[in-house]
Amino acid sequence: MSKLVLASSNQGKLAELNRQLEHRGITVISQGELNIPDAVEDGLSFVENAIKKARHAAKLSGLPALADDSGIAVDALGGKPGIYSARYADNQGDEANNRKLLLAMADKTQRSARFHCCLVLMRHAEDPTPVICNGVWEGRILTAPQGRNGFGYDPVFLPSGSDRAAAEYSSEEKMTTSHRAQALALLNDFLNTHPEWLTGG
Ligand code: IMP
Repeated sequence: MSKLVLASSNQGKLAELNRQLEHRGITVISQGELNIPDAVEDGLSFVENAIKKARHAAKLSGLPALADDSGIAVDALGGKPGIYSARYADNQGDEANNRKLLLAMADKTQRSARFHCCLVLMRHAEDPTPVICNGVWEGRILTAPQGRNGFGYDPVFLPSGSDRAAAEYSSEEKMTTSHRAQALALLNDFLNTHPEWLTGG
């Protein structure tokens, strides 16, 4: 059984990643369990921040590390909130973020947007070839929140081809379609074709 440290203390992400990786004998533990503080996220792109987070967790744990950086990019706002999605409304939380977004979009007819997820897996802090997997979930910004499931911007996001907001998806449904699900599927594909990559065996 190999262990990976997740560069996040988010229990939702931890449960999702454990479900997706346990079949290959990988246990994911969160950096919070190891008392590792959050990394400083001062990159200008999802991939830079994911690398910073994974390197920080690998360095302080001595274990291989997995990091996820994600957010929503809205075309009418020039790609905002983007990498600043979690702190869009000055760290006041999901409801405040959604209120701010709906206000910024109040007069916009062009409502296309997409979630991005960048997953980075590193064998150790100096790993020169981390695995980088990107997932994108296309959709539109609604005019009012809908649904109670999920987290973050799910209540204001209408996935392309759907008549329900992401917050009206079950967690199983979201886990097969979302940006994070797509990035994880790519990571699983990589580990399927490179079974020795993590263990060096
Ligand atoms: P991170 O944890 O630093 O990657 O921040 C990601 C932020 O992007 C979250 O706090 C949410 O606001 C938003 N986000 C990322 N993925 C999702 C999702 O699946 N649903 C809704 N919001 C998301």
